[in-house]
Amino acid sequence: MTLNKFKIGQSIGIIGGGQLGKMMAQSAQRMGFKVNILDPDPTCPARFVAHQFIESPYNDLKGLKALSNVSDVITYEFENINAETLKEICSENNVPQGYETVGILQNRLSEKEAIASSGAKVVPYYKVDSKASLDIAIADLDYPIVLKTVFGGYDGKGQLVLKSDAELDEAYKMVEDAVLVAEKMIELDREISITASRNIQGEIVYFPVQENIHRNQILFKTTVEKEHAYKDAAVAEVEKIISKIHFVGTFTVEFFIDKTGELYVNEIAPRPHNSGHYSIEACDYSQFDTHILSVIGYTLPKQIRLHEKAVMYNLLGQDLDAMEHYFHNHPEWHVHVYGKEVRKENRKMGHITLLLDDKEDTYYPIYEEMMS
Ligand code: ADP
Ligand code: MG
Repeated sequence: MTLNKFKIGQSIGIIGGGQLGKMMAQSAQRMGFKVNILDPDPTCPARFVAHQFIESPYNDLKGLKALSNVSDVITYEFENINAETLKEICSENNVPQGYETVGILQNRLSEKEAIASSGAKVVPYYKVDSKASLDIAIADLDYPIVLKTVFGGYDGKGQLVLKSDAELDEAYKMVEDAVLVAEKMIELDREISITASRNIQGEIVYFPVQENIHRNQILFKTTVEKEHAYKDAAVAEVEKIISKIHFVGTFTVEFFIDKTGELYVNEIAPRPHNSGHYSIEACDYSQFDTHILSVIGYTLPKQIRLHEKAVMYNLLGQDLDAMEHYFHNHPEWHVHVYGKEVRKENRKMGHITLLLDDKEDTYYPIYEEMMS
């Protein structure tokens, strides 16, 4: 008999206490594990569902060591941890995700290079670190182009769309401040993503394909059904990528589909992802459950079952006001509110999941009415 090394009551340390850390913690606690959270913000959402809280900047070695001292395994809820600092704790602690993957994926350039070298398809791109290199990128890619900062962008932050020479001045200014990736802006037909979990032993399980609609470059709505025409093509791309990049835990690959039906890999998140939140109610395992199982080296389910067609809407600051007004009358809305102190416009405050087989969507009409 082989015994599992990870026991009930042992501790999982999570770097980052936002909503992803909170939902990971809740999943871990349900299974009987203890959770320690490290975050600089003493009011962060995960703090209030953790056994221990360590107030520290993410990239502070002392803080990471303090987390490691009280945790049997370390994981993270986001990729913007300094890979070099993470490396420092990897040798003496159990960090199954390692430091290399965040190092590659927190930089859009090394991310794209790794994806392209795996043979997966990405939209044409250039590295832009000077006015001259921007001119070359524009001449070759042609408008429209999206400029993205190599470091630190999320929810469309750090991006500029160039439609013509009219935006050139702004673009030149952007190059002065940061290294950029210039990407061909493609005419999107749809955006999809696929979430997967891979455990320490290398077993992998896929969630169903997620169809994503963005507004102002922020995820607005995710729809999931049992079958999807792009499932095999998307999984084939993920398999190429995982032959190049080491993944343990839950990760998500975002794709573009252009008007001709061509599939391109957009970006990868080495952690649970907003487009996988529906899995909490709509699947037999959530993306947080399989993340925890993966990092503690437990066997993964052979497949993920989607109970019903599901729709997830994000609740941004402005949406939360509307939702709150109607919530009391809509038990079919599975409401998640993350518990962030400050309700700000365009800040992700929560989400709603609806299970929809044979039922109508009751959230969207209300949302439209409130927003009009
Ligand atoms: P973020 O890190 O902010 O999620 P993304 O690269 O995923 O950055 O961009 C956010 C959104 O902007 C995408 O989901 C897509 O809707 C749009 N977008 C980004 N790049 C392109 C592109 N090359 N062509 C068309 N749309 C794009
Ligand atoms: Mg994205």
